[in-house]
Amino acid sequence: MSDKISQLIFEFTKNYSDPENKSPFDEKNPNIQVAEKNGNVNLSLSVSSQYLDEYKKLGDLFKENLSKIDGILSVNVALTSEKQVNSSSNNHRKFQISAENVIAIASGKGGVGKSTFSVNLAVAISQLGKKVGILDADIYGPSVPRMMGISGKPQINENKKLIPLKRYGIKCMSIGFLISIDTPTIWRGPMIMKALEQMYNGVEWGELDYLIVDLPPGTGDAQITLAQSSKLSGSIIISTPQDVALADAIKGINMFKKVNVPIIGLIENMSYFICDKCNEKHYIFSNEGVKKEAEKFQIPFLGSLPIDKDLRIQSDEGKPACIDKPDSNIAKQYLEIAKSII
Ligand code: ADP
Repeated sequence: MSDKISQLIFEFTKNYSDPENKSPFDEKNPNIQVAEKNGNVNLSLSVSSQYLDEYKKLGDLFKENLSKIDGILSVNVALTSEKQVNSSSNNHRKFQISAENVIAIASGKGGVGKSTFSVNLAVAISQLGKKVGILDADIYGPSVPRMMGISGKPQINENKKLIPLKRYGIKCMSIGFLISIDTPTIWRGPMIMKALEQMYNGVEWGELDYLIVDLPPGTGDAQITLAQSSKLSGSIIISTPQDVALADAIKGINMFKKVNVPIIGLIENMSYFICDKCNEKHYIFSNEGVKKEAEKFQIPFLGSLPIDKDLRIQSDEGKPACIDKPDSNIAKQYLEIAKSII
């Protein structure tokens, strides 16, 4: 999420108090969660049924006023409640995938390397001999096709299901195969759910040991629905060490806890930079911020990944590190993480 847009959103919402806990709707209030990508904002308010009418009014007011902010194209407001979230048996039937293990890769904000991690983890797990699929559910910025070096339209089989495209032995399905990623897509609430439903139920995955789901960034309605209804075996949260990203990652931790999805662990991406000349590690932001949060929440810490120029180039060229340079340090790190997950 753009920090500037996030600031503008909270500058407006903080003038209003949460009907239940009476605190302002600022960045620290766990009952408001905001995700934004390319000007499309998803805002979710955790509500208690006692104050439902007040929350509804606030939701309408936020939607109307935030839409007027320069740089915001659409605002989707979702009201969620813990009770609804935990007991939504209807939704449990909605998203179904037959894979032994479904692992969601999440981040509190965009641009932290969630898709890069998803792709490299998928490749690393497949190199360990498992049947792997990757589902790019990042409706705001599907980048798995580019990172896997794959394009084209999936065929439809006799059961009217989409056949995933295959690259490096991995079955891939992305919202990017179904829409044009060059033109901005304005997603409205029901459209998001429809598209995601098709990505889940409408794909012939065949037999899979692991399905890696690259979730949209943030903790909005789409993420909560996916987390609660798609029978996730677990989730991995990626963050960079910056405070803003970490604060958003904590919202992610709380979201998965709320919907009872086990958190497999946290990853710190772009943690440090190794200088070509002196070969020393430079911690550009802060050191071990994510690790400390993992300790605080008693969640496993899965590792710190460096800022790696090759990784960026490999992502752009569609060659994941474990394929392009399997002997590189970063490829070995992905492999170690994959082993610890399996
Ligand atoms: P997200 O999915 O969180 O939006 P991406 O995976 O698309 O983020 O990564 C954003 C950009 O950062 C991409 O250009 C990617 O190649 C680059 N990137 C991600 N991780 C690293 C890393 N560890 N070192 C260098 N570049 C990275």
